[in-house]
Amino acid sequence: MFCPFCRHAETKVIDSRLVAEGNQVRRRRECASCGERYTTFEAAELTMPRVIKSNGSRQPFDEDKLRSGLVRALEKRPVDAEETDALVARIVHRLRATGERELATGVVGETVMEELRQLDDVAYVRFASVYRSFQDISEFSLEIDRLNRGKRRDKSRSKSKGKRDSK
Ligand SMILES: [Zn+2]
Repeated sequence: MFCPFCRHAETKVIDSRLVAEGNQVRRRRECASCGERYTTFEAAELTMPRVIKSNGSRQPFDEDKLRSGLVRALEKRPVDAEETDALVARIVHRLRATGERELATGVVGETVMEELRQLDDVAYVRFASVYRSFQDISEFSLEIDRLNRGKRRDKSRSKSKGKRDSK
């Protein structure tokens, strides 16, 4: 950043230390031109992107809502609470890792479906059917066809997963 006193572009870091329990770096800097000293703080951007709804409105990302939707989709499926938590964490991590401040609701939905599909086929179809609000049964069948095609394609590269599933 430019020196806040003279706008010179070069500054020298004269001290650097972790603060806020290691979540921030505090740096003392000295301007190479005017010699003024100032402090900067650096922290990882961990805020969740806001969600852009299809009507254009923006809403804060709601992790509780995501979790309850997933729990509903996973009802009576062989997926325990720990796996569900891990699923939520993976989705949140992926959305955060986009580095975007705002994400279209479609991007969020596709990410959720991708992750859910790897975990449990039935829950995936349940979630997808609600999410895409299928108008009729033919669309629902298309989705199941798509799912079966994908599964066949996945078979060769998911041997270890298959082994785990069969025990
Ligand atoms: Zn300066």
